Amino acid sequence: MSKGHILQCSTTLTFSKNQFYDYQKKYKCHLQSVILLLDCFQLLTNRLLKNSLSGHYEQSEAIPTLRLLRDSAIAMTTFLSFTITNTDFLTFKSMTKRYSPISDFLKNKFGCKVFKVSLNAGLTCPNRDGTKGIGGCIYCKPETLMPLNYHYENNPPLSPFNKGGMMGGFLDDMKIREQLYDGIAYIRKRHKAEKFISYFQINTNTYAPVSALEKIYQEGIDHPDVVGIAVSTRPDCVDDNILDLLQNLSKEKFLWLELGLQSSHNKMLKLINRCHTVENFTDAVKRATERKIPVCSHVILGLPGETREDMLATARFLSNLGIWGIKLHHIHIHKGTKLEEMYKKGKFRPLGLDEYADLVVKFLQEIPEDIIIHRLCGDTSRRFLVAPDWSVNKFLILDKIHRLMEERDTYQGKQRIKERRNNLCQP
Ligand code: SF4
Repeated sequence: MSKGHILQCSTTLTFSKNQFYDYQKKYKCHLQSVILLLDCFQLLTNRLLKNSLSGHYEQSEAIPTLRLLRDSAIAMTTFLSFTITNTDFLTFKSMTKRYSPISDFLKNKFGCKVFKVSLNAGLTCPNRDGTKGIGGCIYCKPETLMPLNYHYENNPPLSPFNKGGMMGGFLDDMKIREQLYDGIAYIRKRHKAEKFISYFQINTNTYAPVSALEKIYQEGIDHPDVVGIAVSTRPDCVDDNILDLLQNLSKEKFLWLELGLQSSHNKMLKLINRCHTVENFTDAVKRATERKIPVCSHVILGLPGETREDMLATARFLSNLGIWGIKLHHIHIHKGTKLEEMYKKGKFRPLGLDEYADLVVKFLQEIPEDIIIHRLCGDTSRRFLVAPDWSVNKFLILDKIHRLMEERDTYQGKQRIKERRNNLCQP
């Protein structure tokens, strides 16, 4: 167990005498069985914690079991219609991470350090080439997402599907494999990662005929240490044929689909020129989850004119959709974007770091604790950035968020757990 990973889980169950008495009257013959069950629950939880704290096994192994125990206890109390007055045992959390980060998920799933390798398939976006829109989303600057080992200045557009010519794409097989091998070598050395996820991140990675996509994805996973693949795209660019392809691929490698939503409000999607609707997103999620493809949604906090309530409504919207992951970004103003024009004309003010951290914490409180958090902030380079200044210091942002969660003693899903407790405690 890594140092600092301490599970907190109170297992004290307190029942009022009256509750027991009422309960005994109602379910006389079963009372002893229920007490026995609760004792077992307490014993199991304590044993799990003890083993975890003594390093007998990793925290990541204990968490799913604790979740199972907790959910069984909730189910039991709900089924038997009685109330637990002290519900602290319903929560457990890591002292180092008060949310469910993708790094823990991947480590738990693959048993080692797993990193993503960003790949550029050389595709463009229908919101740039005129098919859906022109100019793209008002904040979009694809260069900021280029793989580390890719020098876009030296690579002219080569992809036959890159109709818009925006971004130096390269599609031939060697180039994708080269990126993969170079990326793996770099990340293995720098981060000591053992396994890798091929991450098609930049632009719209389903924007090509299915046969071409199949080839691209296969090239992208052609390495013995690649254990998974992530495909990032727009919600209006995943027809059934593409989802079928992803479903087939998911039988070969662990796969997830990333869909850009950004906001759950159509008026906002219009303002930022997304050229798709919230309904497109809901439909894509439904069809993907029907195929058991895990979906991770992208959300941007701090879009022009969005209120705190609007953003928290997006959290609640996603919480009820059955998605698997969320990737949070703050809004950057990049050079050469429409957003830069708005900023220079005084029509848009980006969030301050304190405001952003506060919003992230509140957003996390709203979403279920088992949604995997892929990111808590965006990442950019100073050479593209106009504002805010704090954007370039990812560690500062993460530190601010983590500290705030500590200070407030809060965690992912807290608000939902509170609601669940209230429901449980209803007579
Ligand atoms: S959909 Fe994505 S790639 Fe396309 S313009 Fe918008 S942000 Fe850029």
